[in-house]
Amino acid sequence: MNIIAKHLSMVKPSAVAVMSAKARALARQGKDIIRLTAGEPDFPAPAHVKMAAVKALADNQTKYPPVNGLTELREGICQKLERDNNLFYSPDQVIVSSGAKQVLFNALAVSLNPGDEVLLPTPYWMSYPAMVRINRGEPVFLPTKAETGFKLQAETLEAAITPRTRWLLLNTPCNPTGAVYNKQELADLAGVLAKHPQVWVLSDDIYEYLVFDDARFESILNAAPELAERTLVVNGFSKAYCIPGLRLGYGAGPAELTKGMFIIQTQSTSGACITSQWAGVAALAGDHSFVAANNQRYQKRRDFLVEKINSIKGLSCATPKGAFYCLVYCEKFMGKTTPKGQIISSDEDLVGYLLEEACLAVVPGSPFGVSPFFRLSFAVSRKVLNEGVKRLEKAVSHFG
Ligand code: PLP
Repeated sequence: MNIIAKHLSMVKPSAVAVMSAKARALARQGKDIIRLTAGEPDFPAPAHVKMAAVKALADNQTKYPPVNGLTELREGICQKLERDNNLFYSPDQVIVSSGAKQVLFNALAVSLNPGDEVLLPTPYWMSYPAMVRINRGEPVFLPTKAETGFKLQAETLEAAITPRTRWLLLNTPCNPTGAVYNKQELADLAGVLAKHPQVWVLSDDIYEYLVFDDARFESILNAAPELAERTLVVNGFSKAYCIPGLRLGYGAGPAELTKGMFIIQTQSTSGACITSQWAGVAALAGDHSFVAANNQRYQKRRDFLVEKINSIKGLSCATPKGAFYCLVYCEKFMGKTTPKGQIISSDEDLVGYLLEEACLAVVPGSPFGVSPFFRLSFAVSRKVLNEGVKRLEKAVSHFG
């Protein structure tokens, strides 16, 4: 008998986790692997954030945390949302979880009836469809085009909405495309949603602070404040605050929803790690100048990477306006033969070849719903990036 439930048959492990595990296994065998896989800042966490975690431990803050989050943290989150986003919430509308990932998961778990549809602009973060399926919903993939910066267009949204549509999942800046929606683009989408009151918005703002050039982060709620009664704002500390390992994220939205998420959390994981929560309090209240300093460095790496990629014959990529990934188009290498005689028939094949032949770990585009592409993270030092690009260039030069 198969022990795994039928509705999970389509759910695969995260491709980033799989590639990272393969790269680690090869590294253990003594191979010198360059990893451009994970979206994990290489910068250390700010000192005041680390010190707050250390102090919490020293102060014996090791008991069970309040399940929805420390009052101090939820108050800090409300202040942050007002200060940075002009959004107004009370602490009882906020829930703190073990990462933005858990916030998204709990929101879907508490709201989806079997067969409810969740609209995912494509390319999407690879965990979205899996989370929808685990919670017995139906992911609905909305195409976008490279020519329009991989941004969802109002008419595509309109055409996809049915009476079963429960959520639109918006991620700006976007992983993996780096697309950043401006206020007008969000207003256009909101105009469609105005006609469909059954559709809620999951706004995944985890890359909020990671914007480059003239791009500015805007929430759909800035474009359409009236959507607040059916929007969950999701954010976390993993990216800008450089503490992905502390697993801390939050959601803010209608109390009816956050209370439902609270119930799930009381019966599953309980509250997020208390030490991490105190680090979160310090992060929100403390100095933020490191964000701009880190962004400048990310931007330099991005410019270097984009220029290099576009100079490699057969590869191309657009300049991402946010997040820390480059999405590289690799169609020219489909059908080519590797030096060992293997035919490259997908981006997954190409990524496998890069790992085995060049000891370079990247993530294929297909799990993000976009092929043939691969994704490179530039949340690594310039030295690592330099070496990664050299290996990439050499490996694909075999294809002529
Ligand atoms: N949302 C997106 C788009 C992400 O890329 C990630 C992490 O890579 C997350 C959410 C999860 O963030 P967290 O570490 O807070 O769970």
